[in-house]
Amino acid sequence: MAITLVIHGGAGNITPSMMNKEQEANYHEGLETALNKGYAVLEKGGTAIESVATAIVELENNPIFNAGRGSVFTKKGLHEMDAAIMDGSTLAAGAIAGVRNIKNPVLLAKEVMLHSGHVFLSGKGAGEFALSRGLEFAPDEYFYNKDRYDQWIAIRDSDYYQLDHKDDNLKGMIPNSNHKFGTVGAVACDSHGNLAASTSTGGMTNKRFGRIGDSPVIGSGTYANNNTCAISCTGHGEFFLRSVVAYDISCLIEYKGYSLSEACNKVVKEKLVSLGGEGGVIAVNSIGEYEFCFNSSGMFRAAKSEKDKNVIAYYK
Ligand code: ASP
Repeated sequence: MAITLVIHGGAGNITPSMMNKEQEANYHEGLETALNKGYAVLEKGGTAIESVATAIVELENNPIFNAGRGSVFTKKGLHEMDAAIMDGSTLAAGAIAGVRNIKNPVLLAKEVMLHSGHVFLSGKGAGEFALSRGLEFAPDEYFYNKDRYDQWIAIRDSDYYQLDHKDDNLKGMIPNSNHKFGTVGAVACDSHGNLAASTSTGGMTNKRFGRIGDSPVIGSGTYANNNTCAISCTGHGEFFLRSVVAYDISCLIEYKGYSLSEACNKVVKEKLVSLGGEGGVIAVNSIGEYEFCFNSSGMFRAAKSEKDKNVIAYYK
């Protein structure tokens, strides 16, 4: 079996002109560290689930990504996080939405999968479950980040949330903003050919009314099935929800016999584009083939396998 780990740190308007050398180096280091830690789990014979959780914890702890520590601010100046994890060998899954003060949302999603008897917990109840499972909490200050704070201050008195959008009516995204979707994700194939997927996010700056995106929704932002593929998405969540992106890719493989690459391209570059949905996916299958596929100008991404040692890229 070809052990493989693929990760992303968000897609969006990511071009060379928007990044200086220091920023490029920070993203490179952040992605590489997570990739190496997650891959080490696979090399030692660990499971795909352990590998994706390890990589995501590392990305959540790094404030440059919009997940865990670097989560964006809501309309009320809070951090509400969403995460999901899925085991492709059993179709077991765990997800949480709108949780606050949880240091590593992915670990809570994993606890939900393993110990709650449920799949999806939200808000206060998810927090109570976290307490009962001894998860680590962190104070609001832990999640403070000057850049994210400034992004929020710039739009908090408007009805915009922080993404670009062509329908530039209010209650939408800021037109022509330099938007990036800094969500993180990981998909892996372990030495037994088992797959796993995980996604973690702070959602969108200035989000309100308990808005939840695609990331924690099994089948939309996250999905894994040994028979087809493991997928983690990033992009404008509303479109990924409506397109049920991750499961759609899996279905094209399962029911139509598409290759991994054909399925990803069909959904990301045709179906999503026709709706106006921007973003991308990472994908892997049980023979260790993998894909990065996005319709935005860039996606922070990295992969490591027996044949590809540390592929790290940002731009098209
Ligand atoms: N998909 C995420 C959401 O809509 C955002 C992202 O990918 O950065 O919440």
